[in-house]
Amino acid sequence: MSELRIKHRICAQCGICVEACPVGALTISGERLQVHEWCTLCGACIESCPVGALSLAERERALAADLEAYSGVWVIAEHTDDEAHTVVFELIGKGRELADRRGASCCAVLLGDALAPAVRELSRYPLDRIYAAEDPALAQFRSDAWARVLAAMIERERPEIVLCGATALGRALMPRVAALVRTGVTADCTDLEIDAQSGLLLQTRPAFGGNIMATILCPDHRPQIATVRPKVLPGLCPGPEREVNVVRFETDAEMLRSAVEVIETHVEETGAQSIAEADAIVAGGRGMGSAGGFELIGRLARALGGAIGASRAAVDAGWVPYSHQVGQTGKTVQPKLYVACGISGAVQHLVGMQSARGIIAINRDPRAPIFDVADVGLVGDMRVVVPRLVEAVERRRKEAGR
Ligand code: FAD
Repeated sequence: MSELRIKHRICAQCGICVEACPVGALTISGERLQVHEWCTLCGACIESCPVGALSLAERERALAADLEAYSGVWVIAEHTDDEAHTVVFELIGKGRELADRRGASCCAVLLGDALAPAVRELSRYPLDRIYAAEDPALAQFRSDAWARVLAAMIERERPEIVLCGATALGRALMPRVAALVRTGVTADCTDLEIDAQSGLLLQTRPAFGGNIMATILCPDHRPQIATVRPKVLPGLCPGPEREVNVVRFETDAEMLRSAVEVIETHVEETGAQSIAEADAIVAGGRGMGSAGGFELIGRLARALGGAIGASRAAVDAGWVPYSHQVGQTGKTVQPKLYVACGISGAVQHLVGMQSARGIIAINRDPRAPIFDVADVGLVGDMRVVVPRLVEAVERRRKEAGR
């Protein structure tokens, strides 16, 4: 039997539902909303309630039963030229942990063409299964077709949690998939845990410009979808190759239909080490004064065998390409050493580098916020300090015969 449920804890007694009821079955008496027996369960009050305090018990039961049909953790295995993106191995590590806590399986999902090398690579990681949609039409990423195929896989297999890297591909793909399967997506998570009581996925991400860490839940819809930035989770090391069960997914012309035509694929050749992979990063900010200032940064980066990073101010000034930007709208990095030169330490920069193992800051302003996160702070003009550091590092390397 269905009945109207009132959550008195959140009901604000605003009276909007009383107005909305076509048969006058709701009244407020003694500061409590009451439902009368002539309620027809039409749902008009549920639609009208601004705080979601009303529901139909039957619908709640149906929803709960439906949610329980979902099980397991999926990791979307983004790959190019037969090689998986490094974030995939970070997600498998976390996905395995979450799946074990839920007593469920952890699986990878591959979309593309000629997937055998990618399957072989994934077989070295602790996965229960690999779901594969293989078709020449999926050889290149086209967000509309990929989203339809992935949504169809989700509807058939019903995973409880789907994880994807917050890469250019993940950011384009997952919101489309979420909309198709009518669930939410939490983008750019920095941590994921399972709530011990409810079993829900706790999805943590910076909010309000990185000033707070928000934990987001998706209680009423499945799957719970999250994207995670590369390098915020530790990556798993590969084990030996092993037999892994590959479940093939048949696609059809309707799923593969696409409004996107890939005319050319262009790989940016920076000639420089990528900041995402580097053990040492020397980053410059507005304090470098000009593009010429970045020659100094390059010298120190070379001496340390590292890569060049930059603040958004330096990128916006056109001194270095965007691929070097560290921070909220750039890359998140986790090197062993981060040297920040002429960077003030705005929160949007800090969120991208504060988990570096060691931080050296060089700034002529002793009150610059970058010193709050630095292990070593050098107060001075970078035009004086950086050349001396280059000299010192080169001398030490010579002495060590490197
Ligand atoms: P400034 O804040 O101008 O600092 C320059 C520093 O250099 C100062 O501390 C100064 O004392 C020092 N200095 C000057 N001359 C010298 C010298 N000769 N020797 C030594 N020190 C010197 N920023 C990012 O970096 N990455 C992001 O991804 C990012 N995303 C953003 C997203 C949003 C939505 C918003 C609103 C902002 C974002 N920003 C980002 C911008 C951020 O708020 C700051 O404006 C930016 O980080 C400042 O860069 P900066 O530290 O190089 O410049």
